[in-house]
Amino acid sequence: MRTRLACLLTAIASVSLSSNVAGLSWREVAIAQTVSPPLPEQAITTQPSFSVTYTPAETQRGQEVQDFLQQARVFEQLLLRLNDVYALPEPITLNQAECGMVNAFYSPNDRQITMCYELTDYFFELFAAQRQPGDPPIELPTISTLAFVMLHELGHAFIDILDVPVLGREEDAVDQFSAVLLAQTGGGRATAEAAATWFYLSSQQQNPANIPYWGEHSLDLQRFHSIVCMLYGSSPEEYAGLMQGLNIPERRQAMCQQEYANALENWDEILEPIRIAP
Ligand SMILES: [Zn+2]
Repeated sequence: MRTRLACLLTAIASVSLSSNVAGLSWREVAIAQTVSPPLPEQAITTQPSFSVTYTPAETQRGQEVQDFLQQARVFEQLLLRLNDVYALPEPITLNQAECGMVNAFYSPNDRQITMCYELTDYFFELFAAQRQPGDPPIELPTISTLAFVMLHELGHAFIDILDVPVLGREEDAVDQFSAVLLAQTGGGRATAEAAATWFYLSSQQQNPANIPYWGEHSLDLQRFHSIVCMLYGSSPEEYAGLMQGLNIPERRQAMCQQEYANALENWDEILEPIRIAP
């Protein structure tokens, strides 16, 4: 069944990052499908629902990361295409900036998502430390993981702007939003796999004495398993081996399929009011 949420993914799946970053070959390119038809002229002249800005970096490293992101057009290609799919009552801006910390966050006051240059740098270092000969360049998992984070923050923005009631932890809900969205296509699943890898690697680096049980997020290893659960839910045959390797009981595997279907249906319904009619 082709859900309405799939329209959003179609926009995301059409992203081609390889044309702008030398040596990169993102798997999304292979699954580029139908690009949404252009909006009528009248609609184009109104304020776009999604826009991307850069705050100039002040450090040399920050400038290098800013140059990379601007050249790769990572967020432009992901987010600006959503203007063809959704019309929001309040516009969302994605700003990239030097923050002085590794972070990404959504600010309800100005409806702005901030992605810190330091986060990109953190992913570069994380994936570089694990890179084996023959692995893809570290830009690939870095971009993929940034895409997951951006969709996580977009989930926060949708919850805020659409007044979505959230029972349970919002951080879990938006992790699921990002994973479900990506899990619908092969290229998206590869992107979500990179994010799962991030949580796995991060969990391995954590000192057991300092695990933040008090945090608003689930623990890294739980976030890893949650993404894997959605991936399996969307494509059981593809991920059956991984579930077995992780010793996830069959009963839980079945629940993952149900949770994935529920999440897909729920987000579809939530986003229906802002979807631009085809
Ligand atoms: Zn969050």
